[in-house]
Amino acid sequence: MTETAKKRPMLITISGPSGTGKDAVINALLAQDPMLRRGVTANTRDPRPGEVNGVHYHFLTKEKFAEIEANGGFLEVEKSNYGGNWYGTLRSVVEELFDEGIDLICDITYKGVAQIQQTMPERHFRIMLLPPNRERLEQRLTGRNPDLADEGRKRLEQMLPDLEHLHNPNWVFQHIIDLKGSSYKDYDAVFINDVLDHTVAEVAKVIMNERGRRGE
Ligand code: ADP
Ligand code: 5GP
Repeated sequence: MTETAKKRPMLITISGPSGTGKDAVINALLAQDPMLRRGVTANTRDPRPGEVNGVHYHFLTKEKFAEIEANGGFLEVEKSNYGGNWYGTLRSVVEELFDEGIDLICDITYKGVAQIQQTMPERHFRIMLLPPNRERLEQRLTGRNPDLADEGRKRLEQMLPDLEHLHNPNWVFQHIIDLKGSSYKDYDAVFINDVLDHTVAEVAKVIMNERGRRGE
């Protein structure tokens, strides 16, 4: 089997359990890497306080989402995520930045990752971010914003029955609801987000290496 020729620009996806630090890592990378831009995805939920349409997400009605989907406007869609809301990666957002020669980074679910891997494997680089342990995931989920503490707790309950085995990667991939059905081999790089600065430095290094591997 021949390996697909890897091309730039690339679409970097970052997945992992809710609260593991994906957003924090993405924001830190964006602040230091001029060749990287956030791939703003679409969803049908209400914006949270502080969220800006077009910056954090493209907030769409279900009608508009369905229309774009019917016209082939999404690279992937996720409709079985939390809260009955729909999420999707807009083809137009990705194509626009690719035309400018810019790499994109998107926080999406592993099912979305699998879809993108089907449609554009040569452009895709898959990162998985895992929390160091249950306590730290709990703290991050409930502590990130007091307004979201209840939602964080709900997400944690959905990820249960048992997060005690977070140190066991095989267990993690078999049981955590966000990841169930995927495995290590479904990602190009897997990181444990312990100390944020260290994680960001490691991820940045891997992205630089990948750019080098793909050439200009
Ligand atoms: P996600 O996007 O994966 O749901 P966030 O990036 O929103 O997670 O992180 C959840 C909370 O944990 C935020 O308050 C964030 O600042 C914090 N956080 C992220 N990474 C770390 C880390 N390595 N150490 C401590 N706190 C972290
Ligand atoms: P939230 O509602 O908290 O903003 O997002 C919940 C989760 O939805 C995110 O952590 C992310 O993994 C996922 N998500 C956001 N946008 C997309 C998307 O376009 N496609 C997919 N598959 N998942 C997404």
